[in-house]
Amino acid sequence: MAKPVVEGWFTQGDQPALIASKCTTCESPFFPKTQGFCRNPACDGDEFVDTELSRFGKVWSYTDAQYQPPEPYIPASDPYVPFALAAVELPEGLVVLGQVADGFGVNDIKVGDEVELVVETLYTDEEGDHTTWRWKPVAKAGDQS
Ligand SMILES: [Zn+2]
Repeated sequence: MAKPVVEGWFTQGDQPALIASKCTTCESPFFPKTQGFCRNPACDGDEFVDTELSRFGKVWSYTDAQYQPPEPYIPASDPYVPFALAAVELPEGLVVLGQVADGFGVNDIKVGDEVELVVETLYTDEEGDHTTWRWKPVAKAGDQS
């Protein structure tokens, strides 16, 4: 049974999605989820509901992570294996950082590329698979090389 590395941050299944908090007053989404007061300075709302974010976004920035990043982005590989990190802008206007999907590296993405949210196994232990979200490049028509 696969378990998310961080509970409540994303849904699993065929069409996984990140879970954000949406302010019930101004409808602004926040990810990671927030509580307390709305972070929109023009809003005094303090109630939030869970909402699923778009599964597709565009690469806003990316990097080849040559150092160990902070949680929850830690790949539990030892020795440490560099991987690509992408900051992806969603239609909701949020930019969400995530690892690039298995089998893809910095050479497979560039700014403006469309990517899809996928859930992959980060590591496996005696409790089973532990999963996290990643960004997978969307194949572009006529882009065979
Ligand atoms: Zn608000």
